Amino acid sequence: MNKRDYYEVLGVSKSATADEIKKAYRKLAIKYHPDKNPDDKEAEEKFKEAAEAYDVLSNPDKRSRYDQFGHAGAQGAGGFGGFGGFSMDDIFSQFGDIFGGHFGGFGGATGGRRQRQRRGSDLRIKVSLTLEEIAKGVTKTLKIPTMVSCEHCNGTGAKNGSAYSTCSTCNGSGVIRQRQQTILGVIESTVPCPHCEGNGKTITDKCDKCHGEGVERKEQTVSINIPAGIADGMSVRVNGKGNAARRGGASGDLLVVVEEIQHPELIRDDNDVIYNLMLDVVTATLGGSVEVPTISGRARVKIAPGTQPGKILRLRGKGLPSVNGYGTGDQLINIMVYIPEQLNSEERKAFESLKDAENITPSDDTKNRIFSKLNHMFD
Ligand SMILES: [Zn+2]
Ligand SMILES: [Zn+2]
Repeated sequence: MNKRDYYEVLGVSKSATADEIKKAYRKLAIKYHPDKNPDDKEAEEKFKEAAEAYDVLSNPDKRSRYDQFGHAGAQGAGGFGGFGGFSMDDIFSQFGDIFGGHFGGFGGATGGRRQRQRRGSDLRIKVSLTLEEIAKGVTKTLKIPTMVSCEHCNGTGAKNGSAYSTCSTCNGSGVIRQRQQTILGVIESTVPCPHCEGNGKTITDKCDKCHGEGVERKEQTVSINIPAGIADGMSVRVNGKGNAARRGGASGDLLVVVEEIQHPELIRDDNDVIYNLMLDVVTATLGGSVEVPTISGRARVKIAPGTQPGKILRLRGKGLPSVNGYGTGDQLINIMVYIPEQLNSEERKAFESLKDAENITPSDDTKNRIFSKLNHMFD
């Protein structure tokens, strides 16, 4: 299909100003608006064609590409993929920018179009997870009180699902036409019927179970897959597992908000895990091996002779996986050295005998070396 030239579509010259383009589009948008031309396929196509032309010509970047390369240029610039790439909703949402808030007629019509599809509210629940569960990912099966479609009336709110009559306000169409004075003249638009809320039918006898609401509260069992690496405050969305809409429509979503249970020994830092290890002064001096907790159980780590407080050991890959699937964090072991607070007489003697020993007091060089290492640890 040969596409018409955008300037021709809007009926403006190649040198048209932004203002002229906007005015030309306004005129066409009003002329071919679906609310003024119900069930007119040709008008709808013209309406879309004008919107597409306006989208390109109103954007200086797309317009200059279009001027240089024609339709192919506009597409290359991230423009339209042809008709259908631009939905009616896109067109209507563009109207706010073009016509401003005064353009009540169209606003009402598009608003109505969206309201007709009712949607239930979203549900939020909290789930508490241990660090171990977060490390591996977990499936939680939860019982959640939810508004669900009433079984007795099939969600209709009418007794036995059938106690209806045709709405007298809209004669069953679910919409009413409204004439509205706007700055661009009188616009006729359709809005959902306020009497039957767009159903076209009114309930003559309400369902006893739900009192005409079409929904009832019930415990729903939901299995939720929680990905590994998720963090406190993040949430998982389960589509369609929220509250049902009153008398038909789409259900809302379930939002599962994660709360992290503090691990008794490990501290989470993003994807890393920190463990504060307190060594006794003898092991720090002589070296040895100690057991530490990790997310996946106990592990032994080697302590080199002469290990200083403030040193950090790193267990690669012993942290948490990234929630996006990019790599895994480490476990950092933050070393402290316990200086005895109380000594018996024998211990006191042992320490006293060391007081003037050759290697007990650090030289200036040794101090500088250790301090500079500690200072660089946070680089
Ligand atoms: Zn009605
Ligand atoms: Zn019911």
